[in-house]
Amino acid sequence: MKSALQFLGHWLLSLVALLSLTVFSFAQLADNSASPAPAKLRALILSGDGSHDWRTTTPFLKQLLLDSGRFEVRVSESPAGMTAKTLAGFDLVVDDYAGPRLGGEAEKALEGFVGAGKGLVVTHGGLASFSAQTGSPGFAKLTKATYSASPAVPQFHLFKLKTGHPEHPVMQGISANPRTGDRPRLGIKLSAEAMALASTEEDEPLLFASNSGKGRVFCTALGDELGAMQEKIFITTFLRGAEWAASGKVTLPSEMGMPTPDKNGARVLVIAGGHDHEAAFYGLFQGYKDIGWVPVSDSKLAFQEDIRLKYDVLVFYDFTRDLDEKSKKNLRDFVESGKGVVVLHHGILDAQKWPWWYEEVVGGLYRLERQGTIPNSTVKFGEEHLITPAGDHPITAGISPFHVTDETYKGLYISPNVKPLLFTDNPTSDRTVAWIGPCATSKVVYIQLGHDHSPFRHPSYRALVHNSILWCAGKLK
Ligand SMILES: [Zn+2]
Repeated sequence: MKSALQFLGHWLLSLVALLSLTVFSFAQLADNSASPAPAKLRALILSGDGSHDWRTTTPFLKQLLLDSGRFEVRVSESPAGMTAKTLAGFDLVVDDYAGPRLGGEAEKALEGFVGAGKGLVVTHGGLASFSAQTGSPGFAKLTKATYSASPAVPQFHLFKLKTGHPEHPVMQGISANPRTGDRPRLGIKLSAEAMALASTEEDEPLLFASNSGKGRVFCTALGDELGAMQEKIFITTFLRGAEWAASGKVTLPSEMGMPTPDKNGARVLVIAGGHDHEAAFYGLFQGYKDIGWVPVSDSKLAFQEDIRLKYDVLVFYDFTRDLDEKSKKNLRDFVESGKGVVVLHHGILDAQKWPWWYEEVVGGLYRLERQGTIPNSTVKFGEEHLITPAGDHPITAGISPFHVTDETYKGLYISPNVKPLLFTDNPTSDRTVAWIGPCATSKVVYIQLGHDHSPFRHPSYRALVHNSILWCAGKLK
C-alpha cells in the first residue's frame, strides 16, 4: 500500500506539483546497489513564507532529497519557532525560507546546530534572507556571504557556469563549465573563507561552500523556480551539496537529472482506441520506476508486427470489434509465448467473434448482442461499489475493501475457469469484478472497474492496475 498512499498524497497537491512529483517518485537517482546503503541522513527543510514560490519549490526539493535515497525529510513551515531542541535530531537544515528574520532564538539555534558539526544548505529562495538591509548578521556569518542592497535581476537565460574548485567534494566528477537555464540570484559577495564552486562569467558566485565551526554550509543561487530546478546541474549540485553539508562526504553520482524508469522495468504496450475515455487514464502508468516508458497504440497498428521481443505486458483499454488475420496471429503468438495481458473495463468488449480470445485467454466477454436465450450484457453509469478482495493473491495483497463510484457491467459471459480477485456488493453488476483469466500460456488479468477519473485516482485501483502489470510480467511474487 505504500505506493498507493504515496499517490493519494500526490493527488492532493497542485497540478504542477503533481506532475513533477509523480515523475519523481520513480527516481532512482543514486545507484548504491554495489554496496550496502549507508544510513539515511535526516534533513529538515525550512519554508513557509516570503516572495519566493515555496509552495511549489519546497515539495519539489523534498522529493529530490527523498528520491536520492540518501535522506529522510521533514518540512517546517513556521521556522520562527525553531529551537536547539527542534533541530536536535537532524543532520541537515535546508533553508528554503524567504520570509522576515526568524528572530534571535531560531537564528541562534541554527548557528549552534551548524557550529556543532551539522550541515546547512541555503537555496535560491532562502538566499533572499541575506539582503544587507533585512538579513540576519548571523546568517552572513554562517554562510560567509552577504547579498548586495539592490541586486541585478537577470532575465531567464541559458548560460555557462564557470567551475571553480573542481576538487571540492560537491564538484568532483562534474563536467567543467556546465550549461544551465535559470534566473540566478546575483549580487552575492563572499568573504575570503567561502569557496566559489561555480560562478558566472563575470565571477558572481552561484554555488559556494564554507565551513562554519565544525559544520558545513552549501549555498546555491540557482533554481529560481520549478523550471530551472529541472536542470541537471541544479539537481546534481543541490543533492551533492546537501549530502556534503550533512555528512562531509559525497556518494551521489556526478550527473543526476530528471529520472528515467529502471532499465529492467516491465515493458508495457497500452492498446487504446475505438472507445472514448478520459486522458486521466494514462496517469495510471506514471510514477513507477518498475514500469518502463509506456507507448500507446491501437489494435490495428500494434499487431502488424511480431511484438514478442518488445513487450512483457499488453494492457487492453480499447474496443476492437475484429482483427485481421495477421493481427490475430501476432497477438496469439504473443499470448502463447508466455507474456502478460491486462484487460481493463471496456476492453472486455473486444473481439466478439473470436472465442479463443474471450473463452480461453480473457475468460470473459461483454455480450453486445443476445446469444440465443441469453440476453445481452448491460451497463450502468455512476454506481457505488463496495469492492472486496476475493481471497489471497499477490495482486490484491495489501488492498483492503474500498468504496468507489464507477460504471457497472452485468450479465457478462464469464468462464467457469477464471479465478476471482475482487467482488462487488452492487446488484447492477456481476458479483466478480476482477479475475485471473483461464489462459494456459500467459498470465491474464481482467478488472471491470475503470470507466473514469473516479477509479483512476483511487489509490486501491491504482495499486490493482500496477500490481496486475507486475504480476503479468512475472515481476510480482
Ligand atoms: Zn465505461
